[in-house]
Formats: sequence, structure tokens, C-alpha cells
Amino acid sequence: MKVLVLNCGSSSIKYQFIDTETKASLAKGVVERIGMTGAVLSHTRHDGDKIKIAGEILDHKMAVEYVLGVMMSKNHGVIDDEEDIEAVGHRVVHGGETFSGSVLITDDVIKVLQDNIELAPLHNPPNIKGIQAVTRLLTNTPQVGVFDTAFHAKMPPKSYLYGIPYELYKKYKIRRYGFHGTSHLFVSQQAAEKMGKDISELKIITAHLGNGCSIAAIKNGQSIDTSMGFTPLEGLLMGTRSGDLDPHLILYIMGKEGLSLHEASTLLNKHSGLIGLSGESSDMREVLAAVKDEQRRSVYAFELFCYRIKKYIGAYTAALGGLDALVFTGGIGENSSEVRAEVCRDIDYLGIQIDNLKNENNEELISVNSSKVQVFRISTNEELVIALDTAEIVSESVH
Ligand code: ADP
Repeated sequence: MKVLVLNCGSSSIKYQFIDTETKASLAKGVVERIGMTGAVLSHTRHDGDKIKIAGEILDHKMAVEYVLGVMMSKNHGVIDDEEDIEAVGHRVVHGGETFSGSVLITDDVIKVLQDNIELAPLHNPPNIKGIQAVTRLLTNTPQVGVFDTAFHAKMPPKSYLYGIPYELYKKYKIRRYGFHGTSHLFVSQQAAEKMGKDISELKIITAHLGNGCSIAAIKNGQSIDTSMGFTPLEGLLMGTRSGDLDPHLILYIMGKEGLSLHEASTLLNKHSGLIGLSGESSDMREVLAAVKDEQRRSVYAFELFCYRIKKYIGAYTAALGGLDALVFTGGIGENSSEVRAEVCRDIDYLGIQIDNLKNENNEELISVNSSKVQVFRISTNEELVIALDTAEIVSESVH
């Protein structure tokens, strides 16, 4: 089945057109600056042909029109007409407690997504806009929602509950949901495959380190705990997000600085993490450059970033009752040998021992042969998971 995968953000849409039989990506691209000046679509075809199209792209519907236009264009396209798109798969950030797996999009599903907006105010609205744009433009094409939260939906209550009055969980659905589920699922399955083992007998920790970062404990193929919680703010230090902190300090800062709720949220989500600590950048490459320059604040940021991952690895090894594999993925996890080396330094007592040369060469298996725990560097491919899930659900729904 040929599936168009859409990842709709507030001002951007990333897309990929995938043939699920061959698992090949036929085309991919991104529309950026939707609703702003300087909007642009960048499109790459499987044979390397590339084009950038600038335009006045006012909203998500127009952005999807641009995507369809370039996919069907004579010189840069990959399809003859819209019917060649057999299904559309959407990355949807928050499925709340309703969805523990991917679903065919219906009016009822859209209603639930709307009800969940409060849980993901930045992410669910553009996801809904993308779905509505496709409904209008590709009237008869089935759409599937694949949720970032779904893989973590079966975590046990001791992982998902917070230590607050239980009534608040019942009343407002305040619990830990976890995110990046599609990525944690994909790389854990890849690791099992590379080990030649059945995932149902493995204990795996996956660290997804991108602009957003999260780590997951996966036992027998199920996520049993993960570092992001009610929102994608909890857990590891991230590009612009604080991760774990003493909840009372938020109240303290709000009082001291006279911040509104919105300003406090901006402080923790946009001005903290690597950028807040280093004062340099939210981009790990720039932080690493500043570390080489011995910029003190960047050294703190880098060390805290790695130290927190290391602490979670210890905690999750205990939660899992042992460890067979550790996986690094995401822009930082896949590319930064410095981060991987620092995280894995002096944790041989957990059975984790990396080979410095393999790590520096960005090889796929970076542990020494005698390491009890196999350490992998695996490229994530959330789009492929979304396309495969979409094809499966659409096939089931027509049979
Ligand atoms: P997103 O979460 O937005 O999908 P990515 O997974 O692309 O982000 O990760 C972005 C992060 O990856 C940035 O912090 C960037 O600096 C980092 N990164 C990319 N390449 C490298 C590299 N070669 N070395 C260190 N960090 C890198």
C-alpha cells in the first residue's frame, strides 16, 4: 500500500510517501513557516531529485495542497493522480487514555482528539488541522491516527500515577502518558532483530535524544516506564525544556518574578534545558563546540544532560530487573559519540561497556564483544511505523 505520512506541527508539516510492501520511501519533504512570510516547501524524491517551492502558504490546508501538487508534478512528482495515495497516516501526539493503539480516523475519533486538546495544547490542534485538510482534499482516502502515547498506554499504575490526590487523576486525567512511543517501539524492535532474539524475552532501555528527549524501559516488548509524563516536559534535560525539577520551585519562581501561568510555562518549555543552562544554544552541536572552547556554562549543560540519562539508565535497570540492550537514537543519540561516551562512562558494573573506536565511528553496535549489555546506535524511523500501522488498519477495515 502507498501511504502518505503526515506530521503536522503548528507552523510546519513534515511528510513522507512510503510503499509499505517494499518499505521504501518514495518521496519526503517539509513545508515550513505555514501562515508566516517566507513559507517554503522542500521536497526530495527517492532518486535524489530536490526542489524548493516558495509561496504564500496561509494554513494547513494550503500546505497539504502544495504537498499534493509537488507529488503529482510532472518534473518532480512520484504519482499521477491523488488516487495513488491509498491512505494517509498521521502522527498524533496525544491519544489521552482512549487510544492504546492506532485507529482509523472517524468523526468520533476527531471529537476525542478535540477533547484531548487541553492535554496537548501545542500539538493536538495542528494534528487535527492536518486531518481536516486531508478530509477536504482527499475525500475518499482513509486516514489513520498513530499516537505518540500509545506504546506507553499499558504502563502499570505505579509508573503512570503521580503522588497527588487520586481524585485529581479521575477528575482531570492527570497521570503520566509518555511520548515518542513510535520511536521507542521501532528502535527496541530493531535491537531485538539485530540481536537475533525474540523481543518478548528481552529487557531494553531506549534513549530517544533529539530536541525533545525521553528514555523508556521496555520489558518483553512492552513499555513499563518512560521519562516524559503528563506532558513532554518531564524527565531528561532537553534542548529548551527543563525536564525533572522540584515542583515547588515553579511556584517560588512565579512568586519571585511575578510570572503568569503562561510565562511560567514558556520559561520551563522554551527557555530552560540546554539553552537555559548554557546561554549558548539549544542545539547540541553548538553546545559541544562551546564545551571544546571550555565555556563553563556549556560544560555544565553537557554534563547535566548526560548525567541525567545515566541516572535514568540506573533506575530503569533496577525497574526492569536487569538489562540486555541499551539503544541510542534521535539526532543526538545517533550522531553524538561525545554524549554516548559520557553517558556510558564508568557504568561497567551494570554490564555496559562501550568500545571507544566503534562509538567514535558511529557504528551500529558500539559495545565491546564481552559487554553483558549490547549497546546500539539505531536510526529511528517513526514514519515507517506510521505507514505500516496505517496500511494494516486500512486493510483490516476493508475486509
Ligand atoms: P527533533 O526532536 O526535532 O526530531 P532531532 O532528532 O533531529 O530533533 O535532533 C536534533 C538534535 O540533534 C539537535 O540538538 C542537534 O544538535 C543534534 N544533532 C544533530 N547532529 C548532531 C551531531 N553530529 N552531533 C551532535 N548533535 C547532533
